[in-house]
Amino acid sequence: MPVKNRLADMQPQIAEWRQDIHAHPELMFEVHRTAKKVADLLRDFGCDEVVEGIGRTGVVGVIKGRQSASGRTVGLRADMDALPILEETGADYASINPGVMHACGHDGHTSMLLGAAQYLCETRNFDGTCVVIFQPAEEGGGGGREMCADGMMARWNIDEVYGMHNWPGQPLGQFAIRTGPFFAATDEFNITVVGKGGHAAKPHEAIDSTVVASHLVIALQTIAARNVDPTEQVVVSVTSFETSSKAHNVLPASVELRGTVRSLNKEVRAQAEARVKAIAQGIGATFGAEIDLRYKLGYPVMVNHDRETQYAIDAATKVAGSCDLAPLVMGGEDFAYMLEERPGAYILVGNGDSAPVHHPKFNINDEILPVGASWYAEMVESRLPVA
Ligand SMILES: [Zn+2]
Ligand SMILES: [Zn+2]
Repeated sequence: MPVKNRLADMQPQIAEWRQDIHAHPELMFEVHRTAKKVADLLRDFGCDEVVEGIGRTGVVGVIKGRQSASGRTVGLRADMDALPILEETGADYASINPGVMHACGHDGHTSMLLGAAQYLCETRNFDGTCVVIFQPAEEGGGGGREMCADGMMARWNIDEVYGMHNWPGQPLGQFAIRTGPFFAATDEFNITVVGKGGHAAKPHEAIDSTVVASHLVIALQTIAARNVDPTEQVVVSVTSFETSSKAHNVLPASVELRGTVRSLNKEVRAQAEARVKAIAQGIGATFGAEIDLRYKLGYPVMVNHDRETQYAIDAATKVAGSCDLAPLVMGGEDFAYMLEERPGAYILVGNGDSAPVHHPKFNINDEILPVGASWYAEMVESRLPVA
């Protein structure tokens, strides 16, 4: 693979950072050790500015190119947080925090961007400014949203922004991307069905919340099957069904359902929300149960911008020889907020034949670290070419 030679040479160093971060995983916004390590390294590399505490625990580093005539700034983003999973990799650098692990490879993303930052600080072979962005709380906390809300894009005059994720199943070190909607909006609902509890042998005197909730689970399937245009994508999953009684002879007074709704455009997203609400109220009314519904909008659809996607493909092709078309992903991605504020693109880099992300045996393959780092660096050198 024609990765940048300097970054190929740096592989043992980048892997050492990665394995150290892997051994010390931290959740959500509590990425204090990781953020400090990142900030210390960025200062060691000679970044022109390093600011901590953006979006609570995010870190921003500024690297000025040896020319500044373009006046343009390219942002590169990595995520730093881990997951509440008990690690089973058996790696000798496995998590020292039981029940917390880097099961999504953010240890790898952070290390790749550190490698690119060191390379860019050494070479400065670009015309303009590179801003490296290390965000907390990608796994459901909206760390990217918080960094944007802190005014990051305007404060550093970021013109374009690029992000990357490792991808199990995609050949090792091979890139994949698509333009337009790429990762899904991730919304959540809690529906409490309040009936009337009673003796299991006297159902006629109760309003059986279990039966009402069961009808609701089935009816929610019709959003995908009968409401949304079949050429569009939507997922409605009920993931938890909890009754207020555990006894064999008691009809529970209430049932709480939880679930998630995934969609890839605003219209489908709004349609699914409206249907969840209407179906819940309608089923409740049919059986005489009360419905308490909470519907929480999560990450928006992550949309890659057309031109910037092509730039990302060009950089990936330069590093790896080619770039594949990625499938649609019904998972969510916090980078969506950054792509709502600035044009940019998000790319996948193959982690080869590994366990899937969010699995206790998942691990990043250290061979891809210089590949990802080279793509980050190439994005800056190709978008900010020296005269
Ligand atoms: Zn994840
Ligand atoms: Zn992830």
